[in-house]
Amino acid sequence: MTPAKQPAQSQSSHAPELRAAARHLGRRRFLTVTGAAAALAFSVNLPTAGAASAAELDAARITDDPFTLGVASGDPQSDSVLLWTRLAPAPYQADSGLPPQRVEVGWELALDERFRRVVRRGTATAHPEFHHTVHVEAGPLPPGQVYFYRFRAGSWISPVGRTRTAPSPYSRVSDLTFGLVSCQKYDEGYYTAYKHLAQEDVDVVFHLGDYLYEYAVNATGGSRAYPAGTLPGLFNRETVTLEDYRLRYALYKSDPDLRAAHAAHPFVVTWDDHETENNYADDTPENSVPPEEFLIRRAAAYRAYWENMPLRRPQLPDGPDLKLYRRLHWGRLAQFDVLDTRQYRSNQAYGDGWQYSGPESEDPSRTLTGDAQERWLVNGWHRSNALWNVVPQQVTFARRYNSTTLPSQVSMDSWDGYPASRDRVLAGAQAAGIENLMVLTGDVHVSYGFDIKRDFDDPRSRTLGTEIVTTSVTSGRDGSEKPSNWDTLMAANPHLKFFNGRRGYAKVSLGRDLARADFKTVSHVTTQGAPLTTAGSFVTEVGEQGLKPA
Ligand code: FE
Ligand code: CA
Repeated sequence: MTPAKQPAQSQSSHAPELRAAARHLGRRRFLTVTGAAAALAFSVNLPTAGAASAAELDAARITDDPFTLGVASGDPQSDSVLLWTRLAPAPYQADSGLPPQRVEVGWELALDERFRRVVRRGTATAHPEFHHTVHVEAGPLPPGQVYFYRFRAGSWISPVGRTRTAPSPYSRVSDLTFGLVSCQKYDEGYYTAYKHLAQEDVDVVFHLGDYLYEYAVNATGGSRAYPAGTLPGLFNRETVTLEDYRLRYALYKSDPDLRAAHAAHPFVVTWDDHETENNYADDTPENSVPPEEFLIRRAAAYRAYWENMPLRRPQLPDGPDLKLYRRLHWGRLAQFDVLDTRQYRSNQAYGDGWQYSGPESEDPSRTLTGDAQERWLVNGWHRSNALWNVVPQQVTFARRYNSTTLPSQVSMDSWDGYPASRDRVLAGAQAAGIENLMVLTGDVHVSYGFDIKRDFDDPRSRTLGTEIVTTSVTSGRDGSEKPSNWDTLMAANPHLKFFNGRRGYAKVSLGRDLARADFKTVSHVTTQGAPLTTAGSFVTEVGEQGLKPA
């Protein structure tokens, strides 16, 4: 049976959702949602066994290794882990080298790497409707425990992954260490940063967006400079369709260093723009494509994202909508409010880019988060009993002037382009009594360490928290220690404490007394083998926020 032939039951279970969507969205948007859903043959729920792809493939008939894209885990909770893999014996073919039939996949969770002490095992179905991806929520499990996991299809066994449950929500955990990554344009360099990150002793990795880029990739892999013809021509066009996005994830996950990092640590992911299209805002694309048409593309991008990321079921997309913002806890040490600043934002003011602030960007009705997410964030802070309140998100939060003479231009794509939105969030943090705020950011392909000021134009105003901006893994190619605008930015922004233009990642440790951030860099990415350097180390103290050299 082909994926397009959904059983009647699945259609009817879809109807109440669509009626609800119609009430909320209005007619134009509703037609778009149903159009996108029909175009991609969606069902709202995961197909149940026997409901959709009725035919089952005997896994014994899979003659080539289906675990070419590795394994991953994500969103650790105190009582369960989310395990991911995808079956793809031929990852650069649209059908992955599998017939449109479901495959039963076995999984095991053990306390040891050799699987002598298996604590859970089960089977999951890889559906062709979801490109033979597997998402297993394994639990219930005890808190604060390291686990090893693997999958089996027929006689094939996957690489082994390592993951962990979060501590009990009530426990007074003493420390947590995490990695930060973003922006990994495949054709601008090797994933040397991931090779090093895979060796780090971190509890979890936050991916802050631009997991992939939509632009065409040539047959030599761009800066990777493979022999001509190494990559098939199908990558040499911008991703638009579901098939394009799915194949692009296969290309990225073909990298062994990325697979090693996923296998070594659980990831908590959020997207930025390039997983869909450069600098889109809600239903407004970069170029003059009608929103109706763009939302069909967005639905394809969101679906491929869910399929390929270690995300839980609440993040399953519905047409062009996917609720990515969510909350995670690390005992009473940290609350993480993972944001999505793309899906609900007002369009960039003044045509985007670096512009002067003015009535258009300062309009208080404009939003970067959307009203619902903003309320959810601030309400969550009011209920928080965590020592650290951490906000993993995409675009630069602190004010960033690019000139020492005023007025200065600011980036319309970041929080600077939505100052009323930022002010409401900061006012909300203050009203909730949040004392140790840390914002985690990607997007800009450089490392920054900022103090978050209540009023960025008054250096004497209260420091409400800190912002750790991780550089890119590869985007922008090798970069440089001191970009040409280094002196200007440091002078124009007294709350900017660190700025470095190399590639790499950040490592942050939260403790009961202080947090420490290490900015890790590699000297080059266009060739392999660069060693790792710690380019800067800072601490911020509990109750006395502000970055100081460690
Ligand atoms: Fe980027
Ligand atoms: Ca970006």
